[in-house]
Amino acid sequence: MAPTTKSYDYIVIGGGSGGSGAARRAAGWYGAKTLLVENGKAGGTCVNVGCVPKKMTWYFASVNEVLKGAKNYFYDVPEDVKFHFEKFKKRRDEQIVRLNGAYERNWSREGIELVHGTAKFSGPKEIEVELQDGSGKASYTANHILIATGGHPLVPEDVQGAHHGITSDGFFDIEVLPRKIAIVGAGYIAVELAGVLNAIGVETHLFIRGETFLRTFDPMIQETMTKTYEEAGVIIHKSFKGFKTVERLDSSPPTVTEGAHEKRTDGPTPDKRLKLTDTEGNMYEFTELLWAIGRAPETKGLNLDIAGVKLNEKGQIDVDEFQNTSAEGIYALGDVTGQAELTPVAIAAGRQLGNRLFGPPEFKAAKLSYENIPTVVFSHPEVGTIGLTEPKAVQRYGQENIKVYKTKFAAMYFDLYPPEEKVAHPTQYKIICAGPEEKVVGLHILGEGSGEMLQGFGVAMKMGATKANFDSCVAIHPTSAEELVTMR
Ligand code: FAD
Ligand code: NDP
Repeated sequence: MAPTTKSYDYIVIGGGSGGSGAARRAAGWYGAKTLLVENGKAGGTCVNVGCVPKKMTWYFASVNEVLKGAKNYFYDVPEDVKFHFEKFKKRRDEQIVRLNGAYERNWSREGIELVHGTAKFSGPKEIEVELQDGSGKASYTANHILIATGGHPLVPEDVQGAHHGITSDGFFDIEVLPRKIAIVGAGYIAVELAGVLNAIGVETHLFIRGETFLRTFDPMIQETMTKTYEEAGVIIHKSFKGFKTVERLDSSPPTVTEGAHEKRTDGPTPDKRLKLTDTEGNMYEFTELLWAIGRAPETKGLNLDIAGVKLNEKGQIDVDEFQNTSAEGIYALGDVTGQAELTPVAIAAGRQLGNRLFGPPEFKAAKLSYENIPTVVFSHPEVGTIGLTEPKAVQRYGQENIKVYKTKFAAMYFDLYPPEEKVAHPTQYKIICAGPEEKVVGLHILGEGSGEMLQGFGVAMKMGATKANFDSCVAIHPTSAEELVTMR
């Protein structure tokens, strides 16, 4: 007998940041009959193998940095402070399980029906789900279907043995820290994880294709942060042409990374030994290798062709400014669309879509503005950025129409540090203004506290603040942030 097909107002595929935000707005606010299909753990990438465990690990590393500097404040802290990474990891995992539960409870409280399984399209407005409880398949229909399936980390296809390395998914499986790690990549993940590992004593080698990392950021950030990482002890291999082969020298039984989607690479093992050969024939030995070369959208197996959903040239789901795909009644948002791959972006897009589809008439044109999205890299120190980089501002407004304000200084916290330790703790700010009214079109900050500092300045920029508006705000003294309202 063919399985019966249940009907909903809204089907959401993926219970990550975007899917959860979308389903909760539709069901919780507007009472839409909503089905959420999730084939991994509740909360998706951010909760399980992204922002949350990453930031906790960043805090773990930050504690070590404070302890190392404590002598400058005349605290007797032993040079070789002991820490217990495996205990921290266990505690971190417990927090995540707690969050998984909180997500599912919120969904249930708001009337969202949750199905654990893998969804694919079986018709233009119909999905088929392979149920995880082993009970087979189920079919569901809805007039509105959202694809919020996220993405997965890339592993290079042209490197023989690349699967012996881990990705960010595998990073969160590490219980025993590797002694010496190779990290390949130059974006958020490479920089964040290299910073963390270096701060907790792992010999960290970063392989980057250019002369600087974070190359999509303002040059001030690229140059200062690359230099700062080198000062802090990260060994950066620049102008890197790529690895050719990765061989496993140890004979540990291979474990498999248990990430959200990524199940193709070896997991971390305490006694892993890898021989890496680059395209120029240079050989290296490491006890771990981490690929951080970007992420790809999770579209495989969704049968998007059956639904008439088109992809762009990067393989991401093509959407318009309202998150509409090429198929009527089917929407996509978050990482699967490649639009500013950040959790709050996916959540905000999901909420706006819920407003538009199920909200009151005044929300019929609701959409997320992708302009001026603040973002922070949790590096050491943190980096914050919003708006245009200097080269982009010049391109948009012309050199003669922009004015750049810059400052660099040592934050007061480091005043008591000796010069050789201070170099790894710079603070630098840049404000980019356009036009005679000096509208702030770019803000770039690096230094301790940048993560917390940027949010409020983001509000000011969304409101169209000018340099005069910044200056009209009385400074808070003594802080680093006060420099942003007193720059000349
Ligand atoms: P996801 O969160 O990936 O959710 C997609 C969900 O869909 C998953 O749960 C998946 O299991 C499910 N799914 C996939 N296919 C199917 C299917 N066929 N059927 C059913 N379910 C399916 N962003 C920040 O803003 N700040 C940070 O500090 C930050 N740190 C990060 C650190 C790391 C290491 C990584 C990898 C990412 C980080 N991000 C950060 C990015 C952020 O995690 C993502 O932008 C965000 O999770 C995207 O949300 P999403 O809903 O699009 O996808
Ligand atoms: P990114 O796209 O940020 O960076 C990947 C970088 O790796 C590229 O920019 C490129 O830099 C380099 N690269 C690409 N291919 C290769 C290669 N074959 N060999 C060596 N280097 C290569 O991707 P991530 O994986 O770091 O992160 C994915 C996304 O997740 C981010 O863009 C961000 O949106 C989100 N994220 C957000 C965080 C936050 O908000 N704090 C934290 C972590 C992730 P180059 O061209 O310079 O070589």
